[in-house]
Parts: sequence; C-alpha cells; structure tokens
Amino acid sequence: MNHPTSLQEIVENGLCLGCGLCQSVAGPERVVMGWVDPPGYLRPRILAPLDQGTQDAILATCPGVRLDEPLDPARHGPEAKEDAAFGPWIRAWKGHAADPEINHMASSGGALTALGIFLLESGKVDFICHVSADPEAPMRTVSHVSTTREDVLRAAGSRYGPAAPLDRFVEMLDRGRPFAVIGKPCDISGVHNMRQHDPRVNELVKYTLAFSCGTFAPLDTSRALLERKGFPGGAAGEENLSLFRYRGYGCPGPTRAMDKQGNIYDETYQEFCYGPAGWPHQFRCKLCADPTGEATDLSVADAWEGGGPTEEEWGGENMFISRTPRGDALMQEAIAAGVLDVAPDDMATMYRVQPHQAVKKQGMNARLAATAESGYPVPDFRNMRLDAAQAQRDESFYDQNFEGTRVRITRGVNRERLA
Ligand SMILES: Cc1cc2nc3c(=O)[nH]c(=O)nc-3n(C[C@H](O)[C@H](O)[C@H](O)COP(=O)(O)OP(=O)(O)OC[C@H]3O[C@@H](n4cnc5c(N)ncnc54)[C@H](O)[C@@H]3O)c2cc1C
Ligand code: SF4
Ligand code: SF4
Repeated sequence: MNHPTSLQEIVENGLCLGCGLCQSVAGPERVVMGWVDPPGYLRPRILAPLDQGTQDAILATCPGVRLDEPLDPARHGPEAKEDAAFGPWIRAWKGHAADPEINHMASSGGALTALGIFLLESGKVDFICHVSADPEAPMRTVSHVSTTREDVLRAAGSRYGPAAPLDRFVEMLDRGRPFAVIGKPCDISGVHNMRQHDPRVNELVKYTLAFSCGTFAPLDTSRALLERKGFPGGAAGEENLSLFRYRGYGCPGPTRAMDKQGNIYDETYQEFCYGPAGWPHQFRCKLCADPTGEATDLSVADAWEGGGPTEEEWGGENMFISRTPRGDALMQEAIAAGVLDVAPDDMATMYRVQPHQAVKKQGMNARLAATAESGYPVPDFRNMRLDAAQAQRDESFYDQNFEGTRVRITRGVNRERLA
C-alpha cells in the first residue's frame, strides 16, 4: 500500500483530519489552517515552499497518515492488557463527575471537565491544551489553554464541528511547563507521534486524555440547523449568534443556537445527529483505526447501552479506561479526592456502549484495502491491532466494508483540496 509523500498529498487524498499540528510543526509563516468552505472543514494552507526536512517532519507526525500505538510494556506497565477493538487498558470504570453542576453542564458525565480541574488544582500540570467555542463566532471552535477552573468550565461540552486543538502545540512545548492535552483520539495520536520528533513531549506532556469519537461535522451541518429552526438570517445567520452549543446541560442535552437578543432555537440531539438531514463523514473518519483514544493515558466515552441515547437525562455517565500507570494513578487519586463518582467496570461493557467503534475497527483492514485497490494512498497504520479486530468478524463483514468503501470512493468522497 502507498502512503502520501507530502502535505499536499495528505490533503488531496482526503486523509487530513484538521488537527492543526502541521501548522505548529512547520510554523504559521509557512502553513496555516484555513477554511475549505463550503462545506466548512479546517485544512492547511501552504503559504511558503516546504523544504524536505519540513515535509518529513509533517509526514512523521501528522495523525492523518501515521498511527503507531503498540502495547508497550515500558509505557503501559505490567498490568496492561490488550483488547483488539479498544486497545491497551489497565482498568475500566463507569460513573460521572461527583460535582452535580459539572455532571449536568458537560457533554456526558463531566469526566474530562472534572479531571481537567483536578489536574490543575492538584498542581499536576500548569495548563491544559484543549478547545472551546470561539467567543467571537460561537459556531466555530478554537484551541484553548486553561489555567483555572473557570477556563476548564468554559471549554466543557462536545464541539461537533471542526477544531484544530494542536495548532499551537509547539508553542505549548516552548513554555517549558508541565501540561495535559484533552482531545479527540486523533489529536492525541498527533501528540503521541510528536514523542519521536521532539523529546520535550515526554518531559512536559504529563497526561493525555481523549473521548470516544465517531466523527465531526462541517460548518454546513450546523448552518442547516439554523435554517431548519428559523434562526434570523437562516443558514447565513451565523453573525447573529450569541451561543452555539452542540450538547450538554442534560445528557445528551439539546443542540442550542441563541441569537443576540437571547432567543433560543433548540433541536434535540437525536434530530441533529440522527435526523433526516444526517451527518456527513469526512473520508479520513471512515478510515479511523483509533476511535477510542488508544494512545492516551486515560480515555472516556458515552455510556449509553447500545451506543446512543433513548431518553434525556439530567446528568449522564461516562465509561473510563485507564491505559497507562499514569492514567490509572490519576483515576485512583481523583476517586480518592471525591472528584469522580464511579464503580469498577469491565472492557466487555465497551462492546455494548461503543458498538459502532468496535465495528469501525473490525472493518478497517477491508476499508484500507479498498482504498489502496482503488489506486489511492492510505495512512500508515502500525501496531493498531487491525488483524485481531478483523478476526472478530466473518468474511461477509469484510466484503461489506470493502464494497462500501470502494463505492464511496467512486463518488469522489476522498478528493479534497488545500485551504
Ligand atoms: C467530535 C466528537 C465526536 C464524538 N463522538 C462520540 C462517539 O462516537 N461516541 C461517544 O460515546 N461519544 C462521542 N462523543 C462524545 C464524547 O463521548 C463525550 O464528549 C465524552 O464522553 C466526554 O464527555 P465529558 O462529559 O467527560 O466531556 P466534558 O467534560 O464536556 O469535556 C469535553 C472536553 O472535550 C474537549 N472537546 C470538545 N470537543 C472537542 C473537539 N471537537 N476536539 C477536541 N476536543 C474537544 C473540550 O475542550 C473538553 O475539554 C463525541 C464528541 C465529539 C466532540
Ligand atoms: S491531519 Fe493535522 S497534521 Fe495532518 S495535514 Fe491535517 S491538519 Fe495537518
Ligand atoms: S473519527 Fe477518528 S479520525 Fe475522525 S475525528 Fe474522530 S478520532 Fe479523529
């Protein structure tokens, strides 16, 4: 199988996820994230010619084209086990943030917000690199540095639109202070790739935390909500927004647009995510070999049986998976400090609450083969347990995934352009 050989090839073959790391690695004077709009995805724009050293650095670190996440005794410790669909793990729990307000306002159970605050207030890190709504343009999402409880609370909630949490990652390393990164699994894969590229990562990135991720939607999907709900200005009414929230304040909580006069335009999570308008998947998300954060210290997920909500709850629950001794110790300390209200659970629960992620991983070999046989480059996935995941299903499952991907490619879904 071929792999991309330049930043341009990464993007043009639909393998960019929009994480922003190439901007930080190349420097914003040479690569800057911009909008490909419509449909409204973040993609790199090349401002100045890239020398071979810079191209090599991008190819080695870009999580769109490189994942290498083995069970490593030196990193995962003697207790870690390996699950074919969900990766290295030490222990699992189910529960939520003990603080009822955090539990209510956050995306699922408030796990990441509660742990982020605990990391700061216990002095384990100086700051947290994650994302929040853009205060100037609330439908958009920007990278966000938290140093206080209030900062972390401002970033609570899932942002289901494009986000580039790593666009200032090297700048964070330059601060020379300990920090944590919270993001999507692919964002954390980018941080993990950076371990080989910059020795400061192992020294300064004390914790990596991710949530289970199915994909995110382009801006057009959020604009369509404005149109459906009769928001002032319709799909083009973004400038009239004072708030745009995808979920939270309940579990899952409504997707909410608010105009500058304070009028509210809500849609249920079920309508927004699973309704007739549907959600497009960027091509690379169909080739996601790590949807649950296998390279993290600790990952979390929604804990709905069957993988989706059947009713609205006041505060939700998370699954928690510790993957390294560091992540495991963080869990134990947060439980002892009364930050989390959890009960021990098991990896078997993940197959019930995250069935879609197991399915994606089990079909990954077939999807990669279909992409390669169609004549396109694929990401370089090493030590991602893809054969073991494939072995959990039969041949007809492989054939369905192969054919589905082949047909999608004939429709041109993997052809993209730089910003
Ligand atoms: C794009 C996306 C896809 C998702 N897909 C799934 C799925 O398939 N299955 C599932 O179980 N759950 C999915 N979720 C929801 C996810 O499980 C919950 O957000 C997670 O359980 C964390 O809940 P929490 O209450 O601990 O989060 P919170 O306490 O609300 O904290 C959320 C944290 O995530 C960060 N964050 C939010 N959005 C983004 C983003 N786009 N990029 C990087 N960082 C972000 C915030 O900065 C914050 O620190 C998705 C969320 C997102 C944003
Ligand atoms: S996935 Fe991230 S590092 Fe790779 S090209 Fe896209 S924005 Fe750049
Ligand atoms: S589905 Fe995978 S590749 Fe796509 S945004 Fe989520 S973690 Fe990244």
